[in-house]
Amino acid sequence: MGILDNVRIVLVETSHPGNIGASARAMKNMGLGRLYLVRPRLFPHAEASARASGADDVLANARLCDTLSEALGGCTLALASSARGRTLSWPQLSPNECAKKVMVEGPGRDVALVFGRERCGLSNSELDLCHALVHIPANPSYASLNLSAAVQILCYELYVASANNLTASSADGDPMAEIQRVEQFYIHLEQTLTALEFLDPSNPKYLMRRLRRLFNRVRLTGKEVNILRGILTATQRGISR
Ligand code: SAH
Repeated sequence: MGILDNVRIVLVETSHPGNIGASARAMKNMGLGRLYLVRPRLFPHAEASARASGADDVLANARLCDTLSEALGGCTLALASSARGRTLSWPQLSPNECAKKVMVEGPGRDVALVFGRERCGLSNSELDLCHALVHIPANPSYASLNLSAAVQILCYELYVASANNLTASSADGDPMAEIQRVEQFYIHLEQTLTALEFLDPSNPKYLMRRLRRLFNRVRLTGKEVNILRGILTATQRGISR
């Protein structure tokens, strides 16, 4: 089970069956297979099958739902793709940030990328069910992509991010550390650097932010976090002696 198996693509009230087929193909090209359709106008449909080409298995396994909240059942994270860079109500991510967020969330936790209607996108109450918006940068005077083109771009970013994630994990398959464990490491690091009087506790922000940037660039595995925390504990012992 790869991390992409935990990602579902949710299409809300798609009008054109051709777009459903093209989205299924875009998904399969990028290693995704879990398609959820909320009240599609026409499905199944010959046009969907024709556009899916070799990805008809994705169509055959598609789950039909009555509501978006039904399609999001069991997910811990939902991100809404939106052609409009909407209000301040929702945090906004780039396609690359979206993929990174999904990688951090998984594996073992279900994540949804939600796509709106061809004509009017997603409603605000549908956006309320999502944690953030994903906007694909495009010509400001013509920023609305074809639905399946938007699916393609977000799935491509997921594919690249998941490949990088694999190469970033160590040779023995030690998985990436959970955010929370890395956060505990940062706290431990800050305490130790303060005790060493390397860090000024009245102004710790700048150094800690730079150190976070360093470790986030590397991506720590669980075992690496354990080693680093062991070094910090030994350092603290050394100081108090
Ligand atoms: N006219 C609609 C756009 C519909 S395009 C509107 O203004 O909202 C159909 C779907 O494709 C959108 O709901 C969105 O999920 C996706 N999409 C199209 N262009 C996008 C973009 N630039 N960034 C992110 N998603 C986009």
